[in-house]
Amino acid sequence: METKSYELNDVVEMKKQHPCGTNAWKIIRLGADIRIKCEGCGHSVLIPRREFEKKMKKIITKANPES
Ligand SMILES: [Zn+2]
Repeated sequence: METKSYELNDVVEMKKQHPCGTNAWKIIRLGADIRIKCEGCGHSVLIPRREFEKKMKKIITKANPES
């Protein structure tokens, strides 16, 4: 099962890990662009939604598992 439904505050894994060695990113802003923050070093990047969906591998932790 592979779901690509993501929400604010979910932690996701990207196809490429961050140079700091961590591959866990928290979604901290959801809009036309998406801001994700590296859980390892706190670095954040803003990427277009389309690109995010292409680069996101899977959701590691759902912020709200019930939804
Ligand atoms: Zn990092």
